[in-house]
Amino acid sequence: MATAVLALQGAFEEHERALADVGEASFELRSAADLARPFDRLVLPGGESTVQGKLLREEGLLSPLRERIAAGMPVLGTCAGLILLARAVEGDGSRKSAPDAAQTGPWIGTLDVVVKRNAYGRQLGSFHTEGQLGDLAHVPMTFIRAPFVASAGPAVDVLATVDGRAVAVRQGAQIGLAFHPELDADRRIHKSFAKL
Ligand code: GLN
Repeated sequence: MATAVLALQGAFEEHERALADVGEASFELRSAADLARPFDRLVLPGGESTVQGKLLREEGLLSPLRERIAAGMPVLGTCAGLILLARAVEGDGSRKSAPDAAQTGPWIGTLDVVVKRNAYGRQLGSFHTEGQLGDLAHVPMTFIRAPFVASAGPAVDVLATVDGRAVAVRQGAQIGLAFHPELDADRRIHKSFAKL
């Protein structure tokens, strides 16, 4: 079987390369027709969650993917991908008018967390650090206009925090990361995801 990598927008090629590096076959999921291909796990890449969410809905992918994830299919959502998984999405507060829920999410909504988008402000729009992630030590973490997890339900484990804020979570086979493991050379996250 293979990993489907959502390829509507954003950093999907980097995930394909990372999966290839750990010996995991993948293909690009772009439309409902691609759902007929066999896959047993899914990667939701970084990018722009509002664009990806709209395209997911337009392509008829939102409900089928929601159903498979709810049924236990492993999923790795990074940055915008974490936002797509979240039960609720808070904006960055920079909008003048009230955000339109249809434009900002929730999208797939299977992961019981509230995420805050663009949560680090302009000064810290992008930064790099290193930290503990579950059992893994010294994991490189590249943040790009990243969200963080503002609150999480009881079924959610926080795997990593940066400055006291949750940046990696797991609920069953759903893994959400605020950062971009595919942009660093460390392949331990993709390796353990491919084994889920
Ligand atoms: N800021 C983007 C969003 O809100 C996420 C950024 C990213 O995926 N690197 O969707």
